[in-house]
Amino acid sequence: MLGSKIIKVSVQDVRFPTSLEQHGSDAMHTDPDYSVAYVVLETDNATLKGYGLTFTVGRGTEIVVCAVKALSSLVEGKTLEEIIGPEKGVIHLATAAILNAVWDLWARVENKPLWKLLVDMEPEKLISCIDFRYISDALTEQEALDILMKAKTDQKSREEQMLKEGYPAYTTSCAWLGYSDQQLTQMIDANQRWDVNEAITWVTKLAEFRPLWIEEPTCPDDILGHASISKGLAQFGIGVASGEQCHNRVMFKQFLQASALQFIQIDSCRVGSVNENLAILLMAAKFNVPVCPHAGGVGLCELVQHLILFDYICVSASLSNRTLDTLVKCWKSLCGSISFLKVTSGELLSRSMIYKCHRNPSEGILMFSVERE
Ligand SMILES: [Mg+2]
Repeated sequence: MLGSKIIKVSVQDVRFPTSLEQHGSDAMHTDPDYSVAYVVLETDNATLKGYGLTFTVGRGTEIVVCAVKALSSLVEGKTLEEIIGPEKGVIHLATAAILNAVWDLWARVENKPLWKLLVDMEPEKLISCIDFRYISDALTEQEALDILMKAKTDQKSREEQMLKEGYPAYTTSCAWLGYSDQQLTQMIDANQRWDVNEAITWVTKLAEFRPLWIEEPTCPDDILGHASISKGLAQFGIGVASGEQCHNRVMFKQFLQASALQFIQIDSCRVGSVNENLAILLMAAKFNVPVCPHAGGVGLCELVQHLILFDYICVSASLSNRTLDTLVKCWKSLCGSISFLKVTSGELLSRSMIYKCHRNPSEGILMFSVERE
């Protein structure tokens, strides 16, 4: 089955009118229309398709769709074994859409949900999916292998725990949408609005509320700026969180080397899909920085839950200071939409929202409404 050939890549621009009720609005985006470039890989086996997407806040989806079309020749005519992935911006988003579909296809071939495909994979095979170019000064193949081997201890019991209990989550839906005080999480997201000193000044004023982190306090490319902010806020016990706009593994490497963040927010569509996120998860483990994935946009929760389950079961082996972003108002058209074991009001890390672990391989990124058209 792994030898099935991808014969066609189709891509659609799918938009949700979220601006009508300001869902998804934040300090930077006042009226986003959440959108995706939705990719379907058709194979020479008519019953086997792979589904992937990449998320945008609206404007520019059509450019990502063009980029997906431009990249499609790289996978058309190839088998799963022949495909690898690349580096930044629109191209990186488009790459994520295609490679997310490739991983979805692989999981369907193995008849497993993606997290289970990763969990069952031998460490050497996982390592072979990672491009160590440009990161070997921070993480060598041997170090990555050692992390995976060490986490073999009690791996089975963590998998059983996840199946039984699920993964803890929180929501970033904004206060101005009417959530009660009790439901507010104690983190702040500046969405890149401040300069470095401004960020330190403002967050210092908010220190009495003891937020766990300030998210994206300044330009997401400013690694040394994040390091200064981290240093300035350390005395208050407030960490810096970032990663949702971080283009590639090299930036994550430098953020870690510079002690520029205390929480890593990987995103399933911003970098080159699962392959690149495997490298980031392993670097985070080496530098002992907790991963709290960014999600909430269309399909992001559905995709990233698989990565964080893998992280807990096979890499970090810890839930300490870890939680998974979600949007309770998720997207009904996604077949594999997230489900919760329980949702109650409560604070961050109180385990008040729990992601339910998928057991069914069909619960991937398949958009019912699009597939019906
Ligand atoms: Mg954010």
